[in-house]
Amino acid sequence: MTSEPIEQWRILRTAVPGPASQALQARKLAAVSAGVSTGLPAYVERGAGGILVDADGNQLIDFGSGIAVTSVGNGAPRVVQAVQRQIAELTHTCFMVNPYEAYVAVCEQLNDLTPGDHDKRSALFNSGAEAVENAVKVARHVTGKNAIVAFDHAYHGRTNLTLAMTAKNMPYKHRFGPFANELYRVPMAYPYRWPGGPQHCADEAFGYITDQIHAQIGEENCAAVIIEPIQGEGGFIVPPRGFLPALAQWCREHDILFVADEVQSGFCRTGDWFACDDEGVIPDLVTTAKGIAGGMPLSGLTGRAELMDSIHPGGLGGTYGGNPVSCVAALASIETMRELDLAARAREIETILRAGLDKLAAAYPQVGEIRGRGAMIAMELVADPETKAPAAALTTAVNKACHAQGLVTLTCGTLGNVFRFLPPLTIGDDLLHEGLDILADAFAASV
Ligand SMILES: *Cc1c(COP(=O)(O)O)cnc(C)c1O
Repeated sequence: MTSEPIEQWRILRTAVPGPASQALQARKLAAVSAGVSTGLPAYVERGAGGILVDADGNQLIDFGSGIAVTSVGNGAPRVVQAVQRQIAELTHTCFMVNPYEAYVAVCEQLNDLTPGDHDKRSALFNSGAEAVENAVKVARHVTGKNAIVAFDHAYHGRTNLTLAMTAKNMPYKHRFGPFANELYRVPMAYPYRWPGGPQHCADEAFGYITDQIHAQIGEENCAAVIIEPIQGEGGFIVPPRGFLPALAQWCREHDILFVADEVQSGFCRTGDWFACDDEGVIPDLVTTAKGIAGGMPLSGLTGRAELMDSIHPGGLGGTYGGNPVSCVAALASIETMRELDLAARAREIETILRAGLDKLAAAYPQVGEIRGRGAMIAMELVADPETKAPAAALTTAVNKACHAQGLVTLTCGTLGNVFRFLPPLTIGDDLLHEGLDILADAFAASV
């Protein structure tokens, strides 16, 4: 079952995408809905560490991790072993029909690792969106209240309820409504674009948001405030220090659940187990997915025991949620994160990425801001540093130029002008440096 190891360097044998990928893309266009688009249509066959190998034998540098999923790298040895063994032993029963240990063990890990050492319970699902949906179910059930507050630039998924919480119209929401109701949006504490200036963002945003909830919803009608502690798809927006603790405290005082959506920021990505750890913020409920299981589909909802246990038996679940193969992959991923101290590695990756990006910022006024934490780093591009007009076309051009050189990069941001870096945490320094060099060349060619 073992195949050739993948050398950790970039190789370009053809244009990217090459002829084999182009042939596959032609089949894709004839078979797959146009609604499912491909960022870089180089068809990937294998992957390990920081390298993806495409159908033409090109070795691409992975700065995306399948959107922060393969944090332990593709084909992480422990994950592969655990999955191979598990799928042969027991593939599926549905935990609600016949339970198995791995589900319980993942919940134990989630209860242990998520912020706070209080008594917790967890439940497992398949996708991040499903975890968020269940957070809303629990919050409404427990509080007996309806209103849910989400933020500008938020991304919580693509199901109908989570689309109501997701901020960006194109491509996520456009003509897919009507959306679930009793969802309310408030401004995000976004220092770079805060009208009163970054230095006033923490105080002003907190005051503005809580006033708005009071005036437009009423605390007594509000079940939960849900926030990504570092926003993902919306542009890697990091709220100013003090904002999250103040908001969590205010929620507690008003019997509103504080829900952290750690689907993208969790599991060592930001240099801690969870992004909330940075300021010691302890949410009532936490959603997890993406990096949790080394690429296998799994998500979790973890919360205070009295909240999670107040749901009637049978109220939470699903056919596939916490599938045994995904569960052992999660246990192996968590073990890998511990063994290799991938939280520390994420902080090293930050140092390397920031050094490269700071050089770009010194050379180009279009680099408006570099932000993020750990291996969740972004730069926001602007046409003019004074007006901060978003430079979406430049962002797309740099992205495409990186792709052509075999560097898998991703953009994000409500305004489409943020370049984000989400390498696997097992990527080597050489590949990080090479990727940064490619980026610098792409930048020079695109401005
Ligand atoms: C990706 C993401 C989701 C949705 O996860 P899916 O597995 O795609 O449903 C929800 N919240 C955040 C913060 C995400 O980044």
